[in-house]
Amino acid sequence: MQELRWSRWFRCGKYVIEKVSRNDWPDVEYIRPVPESGHIFYDFAELGRKRGARKAEKTYIVQWLLNLDTSKNEEILNFVNHFGLLGLLQHYYGEIAAVTLEGKTPLHFAHKPGGFLLINAQQVADLYLISLEDFLDNDRRQKAFASEPLIVFKKEVEEFQKVGELAHRIHKAALGSGWPLRGWFSAGGMKELAEAADNETLLSEARKRLCESVNRKIQYMRWVLAPGEEGRWSEHTGFDSLISVVYYLLAKDIESNFWCGRCERCNGFFLSSVGSQRHCTRQCEDAARKAKKRQAVKPANKAVV
Ligand SMILES: [Zn+2]
Repeated sequence: MQELRWSRWFRCGKYVIEKVSRNDWPDVEYIRPVPESGHIFYDFAELGRKRGARKAEKTYIVQWLLNLDTSKNEEILNFVNHFGLLGLLQHYYGEIAAVTLEGKTPLHFAHKPGGFLLINAQQVADLYLISLEDFLDNDRRQKAFASEPLIVFKKEVEEFQKVGELAHRIHKAALGSGWPLRGWFSAGGMKELAEAADNETLLSEARKRLCESVNRKIQYMRWVLAPGEEGRWSEHTGFDSLISVVYYLLAKDIESNFWCGRCERCNGFFLSSVGSQRHCTRQCEDAARKAKKRQAVKPANKAVV
């Protein structure tokens, strides 16, 4: 069967964070693959299967990325060693379609949903540390050992975490509490809406915004029908990047019966379909139970003293 493009993802055996110096450029910190460490391609579909049936595992990519501490380089490396880079090069620049000349500088048309983006391909290739040839060839690009600027990687992760936070607040608001969304809109510079609107209006506004954020990130999603085994049919979904997949999975989760919670003990994000869940993991749940027990014991001790 012909394989759907972008249904798999590239991951190197090992990544490092290092500063790269070039002439005429300020030093930039990068997340870089180590080609000698080997590489694999894995199926995007695997990521979704790792979620867990009723509660998401903390190793499920969506939950992992929601909780990734971007101030710690070793946590970032741990994430990319598991899943690969976010795929920002494809995500931002799509596929390169044609070239034009502006004076002496060749400019390239990059596909964007609904139009084109005119870019200086050499500059973009330089920024992601791959050759111009690899960047311009849409097949070669996926396998090229591109690097991602650390600062851009962090920005993307933090943006995703904000969407997770919004999903969390929407869940809270849907349970009847207006303050999470008032706080959200107020912090976003929409004080008037935050103060004047009733919970229902806030909720519908927030849901619209969440959809916009998700849809913007998965504009390159592709879907094909294919002949399956033993006369059955199968479907394949393709994405331009790992970051697109993560948005898609989060969207599918909250579109089904999962909701986005925050742990009462460590404040970490979790995804669950269990209405009573209060903690991100079994560990936090156990620790909270023990703490509660200790608290219950204390007053009794005092009475003895
Ligand atoms: Zn926790």
